[in-house]
Amino acid sequence: MKAVFDPAQKAHQPKRFLVSGAWQASPETAERAEILLRALAELDLPVVAPPDSGAATIAAVHDQRYLTFLQGIYPRWCRIEGAPDEVVPNVHPVSRRGEAAAGYPASAVGQVGYHVMDGAAPINAETWTSAYAGAQSAIHAADLVLGGEALAYALCRPPGHHATADMAGGFCFLNNAAIAAERLRGRHPRVAILDVDVHHGNGTQQIFYGRSDVLTLSIHADPVRFYPFFWGYAAETGEGAGEGCNLNLPLPRGTADEAYLAKLDTALQRITDFAPGALVVALGLDAHESDPFQGLAITTEGFVRIAERIAALKLPSVIVQEGGYVSAALGSNLKSALRGFIRAAG
Ligand SMILES: [Zn+2]
Repeated sequence: MKAVFDPAQKAHQPKRFLVSGAWQASPETAERAEILLRALAELDLPVVAPPDSGAATIAAVHDQRYLTFLQGIYPRWCRIEGAPDEVVPNVHPVSRRGEAAAGYPASAVGQVGYHVMDGAAPINAETWTSAYAGAQSAIHAADLVLGGEALAYALCRPPGHHATADMAGGFCFLNNAAIAAERLRGRHPRVAILDVDVHHGNGTQQIFYGRSDVLTLSIHADPVRFYPFFWGYAAETGEGAGEGCNLNLPLPRGTADEAYLAKLDTALQRITDFAPGALVVALGLDAHESDPFQGLAITTEGFVRIAERIAALKLPSVIVQEGGYVSAALGSNLKSALRGFIRAAG
């Protein structure tokens, strides 16, 4: 198995995020990538830099207006007198759908409110560079699998699964897992995305909610008391042609390995029934018992078991890094997960 990473993904260094109304230091640091790279070295996995495959696959997932915004908002923001050095929203359209669809302002502040869903996705001068490079890593990992590799790992940082078609949020700007799935769709009529990050993959769900060709599944801490709060409930099953193609499996805060693995089996059965040609695993490591977000209580050994069960599907799989924050266990958790995939695939 190869790993894919572009050093440009380290350039984005968000300073702060808004938690319960207060600014805290952002945990989505470039140090995360350094720790994960060290883990890859310890596994002796080759790390390749992705070529620039262009923007077409990204544009198949994200609205062009949003991509233009992400690329250009920082210098516009900097012209606002007194604005801080990171782009942060202070106003949001309450409804953007149906009869009450929101208008699209020309104002930089208005557009930030339109395209950034929360206070956890600050944009700075390097954000687009890093997010674009991360998306290219996801695309290249998908291309490796399309080229015949059983597995490929994309070290995507910044992460992606909270980004919708036209909104950043929760440290995420471009939805790397969705982009990988879209790339795989070029060859496979059906693709599944299994999200094991501790947070619900609301962006991924939104992107494919009306589609029957991409099955989205997420196992996560129950949003009734956990970010992203408004999505991730079991009743969200898809709409229109996509009805029945979204499965949310929320778990109580603090759930540990055994109960988690039982839910995972439910997800894996749904994937088997869907019979996709390929799988994207949105691999958050923040379900770990020592992760700063403290949503679930998976052990390091638990990640081996989770990965082995997923790999037992024997589907060509692109593993896309999502969350997982700095703790003494972060590197070990990646090693455990990747060892599980490699062992079961081999
Ligand atoms: Zn997460």
